[in-house]
Amino acid sequence: MLILTPASVPPAIDPPSIGWESAQTALAVAPALAEQVGDCSVQVLAAARQVVGVACDGEDSPAYYSDVAVGQAWGSADLLSPEGRQSILDALAGAGSLPDGETDPLREVRFGGGGEAYVVTAAGETFELASPEVSPLLSDQGRLVRGAIRSGGAFTGGQAEAPAGVPVVVAAAAQLPPPLSKRTSGGGDVDCTVEKCIAITYDDGPGPYTEKLLDILAARDAKATFFLLGQLVGGRPETVQRMLEEGHEVANHSWSHPDLRTIGADAVSSQLSRTQDAIEAATGVTPTLMRPPYGATNDTAISVIRNQGLAVIMWDVDTRDWENRSASETTSQALSGAHEGAIILFHDIHPSTVDAAPGIIDSLQSQGYTLVTVTNLLGDPEPGVRYFSASNPGS
Ligand code: ZN
Repeated sequence: MLILTPASVPPAIDPPSIGWESAQTALAVAPALAEQVGDCSVQVLAAARQVVGVACDGEDSPAYYSDVAVGQAWGSADLLSPEGRQSILDALAGAGSLPDGETDPLREVRFGGGGEAYVVTAAGETFELASPEVSPLLSDQGRLVRGAIRSGGAFTGGQAEAPAGVPVVVAAAAQLPPPLSKRTSGGGDVDCTVEKCIAITYDDGPGPYTEKLLDILAARDAKATFFLLGQLVGGRPETVQRMLEEGHEVANHSWSHPDLRTIGADAVSSQLSRTQDAIEAATGVTPTLMRPPYGATNDTAISVIRNQGLAVIMWDVDTRDWENRSASETTSQALSGAHEGAIILFHDIHPSTVDAAPGIIDSLQSQGYTLVTVTNLLGDPEPGVRYFSASNPGS
């Protein structure tokens, strides 16, 4: 049974805080929304990635969300799967909060910046659903909207449609209700147009050798990106917290390392969202990057990944450390492949890889490289786009 916590609907966004002159700007950049909400004065509920959400002013007005990239808009009924909607109605009935005699007892669903959802009954009662419960309740459209809002990314949609003079790129920090302590990881402030940057990345952890690797990185002031397996995060939450405290980036490498091409869209979605939830539960941080197990994707997987607001991070230097299990061979592969803007692939679950780290880092730094996180290297990578290096975003 779902757990419904009494709550109040999060406040609307103040349009000047997101760089818009007024809330009506939302209707200008998202014409599909204007059709759905009709002629009313609106408040802005969300503006993240390609998604805008609004409601008409006034107590009883439900939320509508639009993906401006595809020009579609959806009401609450579109955001839930039929089974998800029934689960919510059952939970409301169990709590004695299902309004009698209403043709539509569920007035609306809204999403918050931490992945949580708010459901409002026809009687005006509001309940919060905690983030880990939300994803299984949603339709594809609901997952897209929640993923964009949860990603915390700046609003990027609508450039083609926006009237002249309407600013459409807004501050990432300001776009979302409620003002939770939502954080993303991995920014870094090294200017890679000036510095000679390179990104080292470690997959499949956290594991028994990860703390030792963090010691090695800390002693050299080198930053790395960790693509974590969700199922391992709960066992070593303090290691994952330490990664963030020491300026590294944490990212999503699926829950249990399946080949994403073989498991279907719903399972891909679950693999990613469970891992997002585990990392968020351990750290309060929501990753914006993922790496597919084996580097393997197909169109279905990419579409789910995009809907969850995650960029796809590949690599262009493969040390094959999982195969050679040799510190000297891993070192030689890393250093012979290294170049400015490279993304180097390691696995911190092998002791030989961790043994190789001091020599590799010392050598790269002596060649003038600054070791940065992937997000620092790439800027603000786009959801659903595959990146192999700083100079090579794939399709
Ligand atoms: Zn892996």
